[in-house]
Amino acid sequence: MHSYELSLENWFVADDHLIGAEAGLGKGFYFQMAGFENGRIQTAARAVGLMQAAYDAALEYARTRVVFGEAIINYELTRVKLATMAAIIQCARQFSLEVARQMGRGGGALEASMAKAYVCRAAEWVTREAMQIHGGMGYAEEYPVSRYFVDARVLSIFEGADETLCLKVIARRLLEDVR
Ligand SMILES: Cc1cc2nc3c(=O)[nH]c(=O)nc-3n(C[C@H](O)[C@H](O)[C@H](O)COP(=O)(O)OP(=O)(O)OC[C@H]3O[C@@H](n4cnc5c(N)ncnc54)[C@H](O)[C@@H]3O)c2cc1C
Repeated sequence: MHSYELSLENWFVADDHLIGAEAGLGKGFYFQMAGFENGRIQTAARAVGLMQAAYDAALEYARTRVVFGEAIINYELTRVKLATMAAIIQCARQFSLEVARQMGRGGGALEASMAKAYVCRAAEWVTREAMQIHGGMGYAEEYPVSRYFVDARVLSIFEGADETLCLKVIARRLLEDVR
């Protein structure tokens, strides 16, 4: 990522450009918050895709990489890693899909935050295991898994850093429910 400074001075926005027209006056913050809820489930879906790509790459590498005369897919430890990765990906996919369905019915705001927090963390672990299966080549830029690992890392930061998401959204709503 490269970052640049952006500055807007004396910027004029005409009345008829107000989002939501007159009914939108003073509601910008709430529109933005609603947008974040969609962004959270979208980020969880992105994490699922990333994990699947990492798993596919690891499976392919394990089939072709021969160590001590044996393809590493034939070593039990590799199989356990792949099975655990597949189980986590399936959980993440089903969880995200179910929350997306809830959101489609007008609910699921709290669950979208939970899905993002859990699934994005899971993506860090799954891409790490995929890189590990590649051995030293997992760190080489010519293998996509090195990129997947780096990309997984940002998922817990953007669209709401994990800590603020858990503190300001999940914990707050859970405590409101208790009250
Ligand atoms: C690749 C990338 C793309 C992005 N794209 C967009 C985009 O398209 N649109 C957009 O609007 N933004 C975008 N962002 C910004 C992103 O949403 C923010 O970086 C993110 O929300 C975290 O905010 P911050 O960077 O200001 O971190 P900070 O708020 O400075 O947080 C720094 C650290 O402090 C912790 N922290 C903060 N507050 C608390 C607290 N109260 N208690 C405990 N810990 C706390 C955080 O969890 C974090 O660990 C993007 C960022 C990246 C990296």
